[in-house]
Amino acid sequence: MSVKVRMAPSPTGFLHIGSVRTFVFNWLFARQRAGECLLRIENTDTSREVAEAVDQIQESLRWLGIDWDGPVTFQLDTAERARELARELVEKGHAYEDEGAIRFRQPKEGVVAWDDAVRGHIEFRNELLPDLVIVRSDGRPTYNFVSPVDDMVDRITHVIRGDDHVSNTPSQINILRALGAELPVYAHVPMINGADGRKLSKRHGAISVENFRADGYLPAALMNFLALLGWSFDDRTTIMAKHELVERFSLERVVPSPATFDYQKLDWMNGVYLRDLQPDEYAHFLCKWLEEQGIDWPQEMVHATAPLVQEKIEKFAQYPDFARFFFEPVDPPEDLDAGICQAAADRLAGVEPWAATAIEESLRDLADELGQKPRQAFAPIRVAVTGSKVSPGLFESLELLGRETSLARLTAVAA
Ligand code: GLU
Repeated sequence: MSVKVRMAPSPTGFLHIGSVRTFVFNWLFARQRAGECLLRIENTDTSREVAEAVDQIQESLRWLGIDWDGPVTFQLDTAERARELARELVEKGHAYEDEGAIRFRQPKEGVVAWDDAVRGHIEFRNELLPDLVIVRSDGRPTYNFVSPVDDMVDRITHVIRGDDHVSNTPSQINILRALGAELPVYAHVPMINGADGRKLSKRHGAISVENFRADGYLPAALMNFLALLGWSFDDRTTIMAKHELVERFSLERVVPSPATFDYQKLDWMNGVYLRDLQPDEYAHFLCKWLEEQGIDWPQEMVHATAPLVQEKIEKFAQYPDFARFFFEPVDPPEDLDAGICQAAADRLAGVEPWAATAIEESLRDLADELGQKPRQAFAPIRVAVTGSKVSPGLFESLELLGRETSLARLTAVAA
């Protein structure tokens, strides 16, 4: 049987990373089974804010590498059909009018149960379910009605959604039964918490896809990381390319307990992905990111710096501070050892060729002659040239900066 799932974001502001993780599960599941993955926007109005959020949602998903089948649909567009079905339910005695609204009549006896693909068997006693409003008195159908109706009409086979919806499911099942619809499989996937065990929110750090994009994570790394929030392939494998995730994903291995969003693990993972890129790919992604951030450093120079930074940073957001000295003048502190800097300048003036190995050799000789440990002697030189104690490799940096700039920075300290 071919599967069909839907990603159903509510268009309220930016896309929360928790929703995105749930969409990743939907998408992996559909792609693995060569099924369909719909994008349904659960809007309740058509304001400009909603339109902007919808653009943003699509942009975020595309960036992450998640696509969908067919046109984007809108919950509001199916409101008329939902009203008609509500009237049918009234005619059949499954719903009734109540002060202008329409209420669904829950079965009064027995239980409503389903075998959740993640949480196992779940049941609710019908007598505890209140008759719920399905169409408000102003004619607007409610979420708990339109959502299962859309699932029915779209022939959704698997409803994969956050477990905050578990309590909606018994009513949605009763509604689908009253409509004579086949039930989809439900899979309620765990929530995502911060390290403190509380629901992931801005307090913890970045939470929207846009935040992560701006911090310079690679989409493939973020997708890999998100896939592991509540799912695992085995107990060992962490790094998995998109096609491996598609191959390996299964709802059976999604756990019901909340997942913890570990920012350090994401940074580590992103570093692995970054180091794994070919240098020209790396430079390409870096240039794109810089452009998105409105930083217009010359591309050629950015390309040249790539091999010097690739091993050292875990996300592109670290690049501007780390590599700024290649593009902008530095402002080293006043208390640098001017003597060493001048001696280094004198020495470097005659180095041939101007290349990292020759530069290294001459600076090591200098340290020797001064009776200093290299690390001690190089520290002020590094700060004079890069403006910082932490930098890419000193000799490679000097080579790339060029003799003229390097000497100028060293003598500026001595002046
Ligand atoms: N719009 C709901 C949400 O964002 C999803 C509802 C569903 O998947 O049924 O949580």
